[in-house]
Amino acid sequence: MPRFAYVNGRYLPHDQAHVHVEDRGFQFADGVYEVITIIGGKFADEEGHMLRLERSLRELSIPWPVKPASLCFIMRELVRRNKLRNATLYIQITRGPAPRDFKFPKEPVPTLVLTCRRAGFQPPAALERGVAVITLLDIRWQRRDIKSVSLLPQALGKQKAFEAGAYEGWQVDEQGFVTEGCSSNAWIVTQEGVLVTRPPSNAILNGITRLSILECACAQGIAFEERPFTVTEALAANEAFMSSAGTFALPVVRIDGQPVGDGTPGPLTLRIRQAYLDHVGAADPLRKGQ
Ligand code: PMP
Repeated sequence: MPRFAYVNGRYLPHDQAHVHVEDRGFQFADGVYEVITIIGGKFADEEGHMLRLERSLRELSIPWPVKPASLCFIMRELVRRNKLRNATLYIQITRGPAPRDFKFPKEPVPTLVLTCRRAGFQPPAALERGVAVITLLDIRWQRRDIKSVSLLPQALGKQKAFEAGAYEGWQVDEQGFVTEGCSSNAWIVTQEGVLVTRPPSNAILNGITRLSILECACAQGIAFEERPFTVTEALAANEAFMSSAGTFALPVVRIDGQPVGDGTPGPLTLRIRQAYLDHVGAADPLRKGQ
């Protein structure tokens, strides 16, 4: 079946979907993006992702290429044309093509690209056994709160994690505190059963899944603290997990080769994962029989 992508007003077969060589996204990484997971036809946390997209655009003074309502229509149309029920949808907006010059063009014509593919959910073993992470120095810029397409440090980190046989890289700041994963937020559950994650600031991307998990924790009366934690604290924790639109809450059982807790997925992590899936109204794609 041909895959379709959307580029500036047109739905195109994937291999014919191109952007201009002088697009500022390509030349300067001058653009933003969002990733939305569609589970069983449901757009998970759509409102939150749209709000963050609006914020990212505003922070970089990139105008909306189309009205937000039109974008929501295009998103659905693309998923429909690709005949997908479980999908990962990428929305990328750049400042558009312009003669190469660092300064912004006077009248930018932003580029809008949407691609989607069958959701590459992790193998069920990732949930049953948990995943490993390695730690890396966070070498990114100081506006990590903007979901920018400038992802080179994350690509380097993910590659290093892959080469080490780990699933994710947890980035660590100069003071030894975990900032976040290369494409996820980082969480621990202390020995007292308190959920801990770094507070939103320009040091991390405020994950939409992260925000929903905090809402679920509130609703379920789970104690939580938004504060930075160190790798040492994570290694002494009862549980750890990562969160993102594509992984929901995924148990982390090893950090730099050392077990977290008893080295198996923690009960609070699994409870939070279920609460999150209930919150978005979807069944867990990693559970057998679903
Ligand atoms: N931090 C980073 C650096 C990310 O790339 C992502 C995934 N986009 C997240 C956190 C998690 O964000 P979300 O829950 O919105 O997917």
